[in-house]
Amino acid sequence: MSGLKNAADRTAIARLAASLELPAFESGWVWLAGAGPGDAGLVTMLGLHAIASADVILYDALVNEALLSFARPGADIVYAGKRRGKASAKQGDISNQLVALARKGKRVLRLKGGDPFVFGRGGEEALTLARASIPFRIVPGVTAGIGGLAYAGIPVTHRDTNHAVTFITGHGVDGNVPALDWNAISRGSPTIVLYMALAHADEIAAKLMDAGRPANEPAAIVSDATSGKQNVRVTALSELGRAAKQSDAPAILVIGENVKLREGLDWLGAMSGKLLDADPLKRGLLSDAG
Ligand code: SAH
Repeated sequence: MSGLKNAADRTAIARLAASLELPAFESGWVWLAGAGPGDAGLVTMLGLHAIASADVILYDALVNEALLSFARPGADIVYAGKRRGKASAKQGDISNQLVALARKGKRVLRLKGGDPFVFGRGGEEALTLARASIPFRIVPGVTAGIGGLAYAGIPVTHRDTNHAVTFITGHGVDGNVPALDWNAISRGSPTIVLYMALAHADEIAAKLMDAGRPANEPAAIVSDATSGKQNVRVTALSELGRAAKQSDAPAILVIGENVKLREGLDWLGAMSGKLLDADPLKRGLLSDAG
């Protein structure tokens, strides 16, 4: 983007921010903001205002880089993505960097994919700021497990399929499947949404089937959700591990009857000619079928 266009865009953003009475981004503050799951249009107004105002932006791997073109011309734009397995050492570095930059009087934006408080370690970073008495603001974002499913035509809740949903990370602190009460989850949560679970999908599916979930329960994998490369694979719980091996990261996995609604609600597919079935649950829920 040319400097001139950037300046015009930033003026427009500043004007919008003022007319919405958004808070000013003050020196010495850190804002932890979500950039949404991929589609640049899913950033919030507050997130965009933060991008256009910050002196320093530390952004993660899953942030849509097109958003960074709205940064101030002199802003420092730092890639702070983590590589698998090296997360812990770097995590402390990032938090300390946020503190040091704020102490220098910078307006520091920590920009994360999705929502900063959903499996994004935003809480850890904010606690470091709290310990250092650095003032901070949290700017929520559209999380992949909700917005990403919406772009696949899968409502995360739907009255006829699920009154509850559970969000789970497939990747615990030690890199293994977290030690959860899988029997309770299986019985209590009609829909299960999994982040960071491609590598352990077969193990998780096996745990759920051992706990009584039917092998033919619908499941889906949404890769690169909301981006131009979005790919959706609909499968059955028993096939989830195999489908995961053929899917690209990042991906959201979802297990539950609500997956069937995609046949009626795949609005993106409809744009390229797919016929929608306005009654996608008519074959009855699997639980009805026994
Ligand atoms: N804070 C983020 C999640 C960070 S954890 C959020 O709220 O969305 C990273 C995981 O998020 C990935 O492994 C993947 O499971 C999921 N994810 C993030 N962006 C995604 C995307 N565009 N498509 C599919 N999954 C995504």
